[in-house]
Amino acid sequence: MIQIDVDMTEGSEFGRELLSQYTSFRLTTDLSVLSENECRMLPHLFAAADEMESIFWKQAYGDRDELLESIDDPALREYAKINYGPWDRIGGNAPFIDGIPDKPAGANLYPRDMSRDEFEAAAAQNPSLADLYTMVVRDADESLEAIPYHEVFAEEMQRASEELLAAAEFADEPGLRNYLTLRAQALVTGDYFESDMAWMDMKDNRIEMVVGPIETYEDALFGYKAAAEAFVLIKDMSWSERLSRYAQLLPMLQEGLPVPQEYKQETPGTDSDLNAYDAIYHAGDTNAGSKTIAINLPNDEQVQLAKGTRRLQLKNSMQAKFDKILVPISEVLIAEDQREHVTFDAFFGNTMFHEVAHGLGIKNTLDGSTTVRGALKEHASALEEGKADILGLYMVSALMDAGELDGDIRDNMVTFLAGIFRSVRFGASSAHGRANMIRFNYFLEMGAFSRDAETGMYSADYDKMIEAMNALTEKILRFQGDGDYEGVAAFVADYARVPQQLQADLDRLAEEGIPVDIVFEQGLAAVGR
Ligand code: ZN
Repeated sequence: MIQIDVDMTEGSEFGRELLSQYTSFRLTTDLSVLSENECRMLPHLFAAADEMESIFWKQAYGDRDELLESIDDPALREYAKINYGPWDRIGGNAPFIDGIPDKPAGANLYPRDMSRDEFEAAAAQNPSLADLYTMVVRDADESLEAIPYHEVFAEEMQRASEELLAAAEFADEPGLRNYLTLRAQALVTGDYFESDMAWMDMKDNRIEMVVGPIETYEDALFGYKAAAEAFVLIKDMSWSERLSRYAQLLPMLQEGLPVPQEYKQETPGTDSDLNAYDAIYHAGDTNAGSKTIAINLPNDEQVQLAKGTRRLQLKNSMQAKFDKILVPISEVLIAEDQREHVTFDAFFGNTMFHEVAHGLGIKNTLDGSTTVRGALKEHASALEEGKADILGLYMVSALMDAGELDGDIRDNMVTFLAGIFRSVRFGASSAHGRANMIRFNYFLEMGAFSRDAETGMYSADYDKMIEAMNALTEKILRFQGDGDYEGVAAFVADYARVPQQLQADLDRLAEEGIPVDIVFEQGLAAVGR
């Protein structure tokens, strides 16, 4: 795997400034919960993950070694490793190496000179061009050709497959053994269905492995192509139990939503499979740029219809963001007398309930004509993320009122406020960034928090926060239920922006050197093996 030094003192000032947006965090966990056989699996799982590194570089950019060798500035070279290419993932994908053109929307997954029209005409004749698991290239006569990943990346897939089989030998838990075996086959055949089904059937395994071509964000042209990644995870049994209990309470919480009955007529599922993990290895897509703290898979709709999805929350990745980013932010922007309410438990709780809250509300418009997603198009994601954030807080407060959850709601509220400043920094190109801008402006307007002009720090007003929470909940659920595309577009245009004062405050965070995201120190040494 690639080691990254973010504390580099050599290199250009420009390069060091870019690097300083990241800070490093060691990925570790308590391995004493694992059996000896489980520990023996780890080196094989890490080795399989490393093959996804190599594939992802080719999908995102092309020739890694050639690029890295061509960069003289050591700081920029480190930055290219973080970004898996010469484009700044947390800086709107701007090229940071001289002479590099803008990032193609389809990354390296399609020929760079291909137009949308050319692709669409060709894909009408040859559907495999739009397949999740193929790269599109030009063949000898310049026409578009789809080559399956297991052929383009045959060597990497073969080695990863062998490592998974080697790990499966030590898997005592039958579900995990079955999944690893089927996944090993999938990597070399390109047929992932059975292994996705097997992944959904795993319930009792403490070690978790996600590996292969998975998410489609790297394909910003069409969203068709899956990018290679891997996670190795260790399940947190006690949190996982608590979460399954809260999922049971979703119907009651749906009932209590502060909206008219017709906007909460759907019944949320209670069989949601949500668990907490410590991540001990990230490779490829998931390790590029900003790091995820949650996974929701599989993406195959056939598997989703048959088995649903599983949601995995990464507790130590959240701890990293809390310690390294949220606490420093609150030292600059949260009023001193409220700062004690910024706690990891509240941050973890808010994030977990965000995930559960995706299950609340409605998926189809009230007139039954379409899904909410279909009606709201490009605004659907930002609104859905905003919904989950606000309903996550609603759930915490409702569960505390019902005596189902311990804690101090003030912790959740102040931590929620600090979290807005963290996420607004993701920028307008991210659905989460836009959702947080909307919330900032809406809450400010409703007086849910205020800014002291003298200190430049923010304080939550607990009562008004509840009012703002209920009002924004109603607004979002109405937009969704009405499928009101025009209304949402106007709302997003009004609210999804960074006002001058907020920008000045965000600039203070940058001046203080508060990182935007993290890079992981990971591998056998990091977990102490
Ligand atoms: Zn979400």
